[in-house]
Amino acid sequence: MDLDLTPEQELVRDTVREFARDRVAPVAEELDREERFPYELVAELAELGFMGLPIPEEHGGAGGDTVSYALVVEELTRVDSSVAITVAAHTSLGTMPIHLFGTEEQKREWLPRLASGEALAAFGLTEPGAGSDAGNTRTTAELRDGEWVVNGSKIFITNAGTDITACVTITARTGEDEISNLIVPNGTPGYEISAPMKKLGWKASDTRELSFRDCAVPEGNLLGERGQGFRQFMEILDGGRISVAAMGVGLAQGAYDLAYAYAQEREQFGRPISKFQAIQFKLADLATEIEAGRALVLKAAWLKDQGRPFAREAAMAKLYTGELSNRAVNWSLQIHGGYGYMEEYAISRLYRDQKILEIGEGTNEVQRMVIARHLGL
Ligand SMILES: Cc1cc2nc3c(=O)[nH]c(=O)nc-3n(C[C@H](O)[C@H](O)[C@H](O)COP(=O)(O)OP(=O)(O)OC[C@H]3O[C@@H](n4cnc5c(N)ncnc54)[C@H](O)[C@@H]3O)c2cc1C
Repeated sequence: MDLDLTPEQELVRDTVREFARDRVAPVAEELDREERFPYELVAELAELGFMGLPIPEEHGGAGGDTVSYALVVEELTRVDSSVAITVAAHTSLGTMPIHLFGTEEQKREWLPRLASGEALAAFGLTEPGAGSDAGNTRTTAELRDGEWVVNGSKIFITNAGTDITACVTITARTGEDEISNLIVPNGTPGYEISAPMKKLGWKASDTRELSFRDCAVPEGNLLGERGQGFRQFMEILDGGRISVAAMGVGLAQGAYDLAYAYAQEREQFGRPISKFQAIQFKLADLATEIEAGRALVLKAAWLKDQGRPFAREAAMAKLYTGELSNRAVNWSLQIHGGYGYMEEYAISRLYRDQKILEIGEGTNEVQRMVIARHLGL
């Protein structure tokens, strides 16, 4: 059993760690405060090959493995969740469906721009009335004269409305009991995108409501087999959970880093608070749980890279690291005392950015449902 990263994986981790420290950290607070999408950072990440890491080179990606991809997402989240989710949603949710289910023609049309990071893609599954119960999609697509005519709406869609977004893949009902996936290019008449939604956290990430009114796309924009949409998006969510789980570890690590440093600077009762056992125990518990969380994430990623079943482990990793990140930001802020409640301290941003990790790509309850199903219950 070999628990070491390969030299290539270490190189990826060190490169992105340096990038996060030198390029993301200095602007993270400002991007959050101004709720400004990080176009410049996306361009730089694209240059580094991190906007399409697991996509094969022949389609414009970097041809990396899932472990490397998880390391990228973890290291970015350690410093800034908005930048990390921009990469993760674009890669796992936006680009992956075209890579996994697209025809050769669709891949040639979309992947080079998406995998190189020149353009972004979004994944539109959630609807106002269909969240956890995602199969309850109400959006419809009707085949008329060689075109799919889409009607309906989607909500909370990441990356859908940036200046460089090329398309969204949506689920739509194409028959009574039939769900299919369709690629809808941005700019298609009848496809309207709301102003950015106002959020508690992830403020520099792009989140929109989408509406489709007699929005017609070519018949060839059907992604994968007709009627396979539900199975396809379940597969996409399984993979996406690895990246959200990597965000959980990254956020927990970032919160730990801040608490560790602060506990040594801050003095009370004549000594650094890190000398108090109550503080040491919190940091010791966090360091232990972060190790455990990272091991779960890397195992799920490794299984996927081996072509083995990974859905159970991905759900376990997502559940565990979501709850771990909650404890981590809470304890880290506690260690910061009143200063941690002030906006000038990074932990206050990490605290706001955390909660969504227990909701997006399946809530904690949904992960437990998935795990229970895998346990045969
Ligand atoms: C910032 C942000 C970005 C997002 N990005 C995207 C995106 O890019 N694409 C996309 O498609 N979606 C996206 N989402 C949507 C996200 O995946 C959903 O919010 C999530 O799946 C939960 O759905 P919901 O909000 O409708 O909650 P609901 O499903 O209404 O759940 C409400 C509560 O009820 C619980 N619950 C529901 N059913 C059960 C049950 N059977 N048993 C026990 N408890 C249950 C839930 O766990 C939750 O606690 C995003 C959301 C946010 C906030």
